Amino acid sequence: MYLLYLDDSGSAANKSESHLVLGGICVHESQITRLSKALDDLALGFAPTTPDEIEFHASEIFNGRSAPWSSIADKTSRAALIKSVLKLVADASRSTCTFACAVHKDSFPDRDPMEIAFEDLCSRFDQKLRRIERRGEKQKGLIIVDESAYETSLQKLTQQFRTLGTRWNVIRNIADVPFFVDSKRSRCIQLADHIAYAVFRRYHASDTNYLDVILDRFDRDNGVLHGLSHKRSPGYKCSCPVCFGRATRGSARKGTRKGARHEPTD
Ligand SMILES: [Zn+2]
Repeated sequence: MYLLYLDDSGSAANKSESHLVLGGICVHESQITRLSKALDDLALGFAPTTPDEIEFHASEIFNGRSAPWSSIADKTSRAALIKSVLKLVADASRSTCTFACAVHKDSFPDRDPMEIAFEDLCSRFDQKLRRIERRGEKQKGLIIVDESAYETSLQKLTQQFRTLGTRWNVIRNIADVPFFVDSKRSRCIQLADHIAYAVFRRYHASDTNYLDVILDRFDRDNGVLHGLSHKRSPGYKCSCPVCFGRATRGSARKGTRKGARHEPTD
């Protein structure tokens, strides 16, 4: 079984943020213990006797306002710690990959950005499981979400998951409704938090420092990037890896014809 751990970054209601991101890590069940131990080992550096009390939360590390991150006065050192967490993802086994969906909120004024992102990632996760099945390996998937996102629209979406999943045609390989867990108790949710944050920094602040660490780990097939998506209106100009890749493939399909239309959101 593959588990997709998800967390959000950014707020649907915060007008000062252009994007909302839902993202995380897709892990085969056999790799969960190994990844969790790697983060446990990193926690030992901050609490040698009580590493379980250390929760890695990227925005809290970045801001450095709360313990134990407030003890790291240097902003560059805190940024390096976030990258160290992301490096664990970058160095994970080949069966592990990342997913994220960044939604440009103003492009969809009448829709809930969390619903857009959740639908997109459910579909992409199911597509990955179908590719694995075509290679002769039958695997089911399960989605696990940080419970702090429970009070958002994800709660409603989860209640409607079977109906929505049928409408989206994505529940074939996803075994059950999403489960919500306490991020303090799940190292993989903490990794998901860092992945969502890395993508959020890219789209909200044009800061690629964090996304660059894990960009190669987003789900791909035959060189095509499937694990990262950017939902925006066709008029929103963007050169992110998703939009650039689509524009490049669109140009290749259309030859060298001038005025090729920038493809709309996928
Ligand atoms: Zn883009």
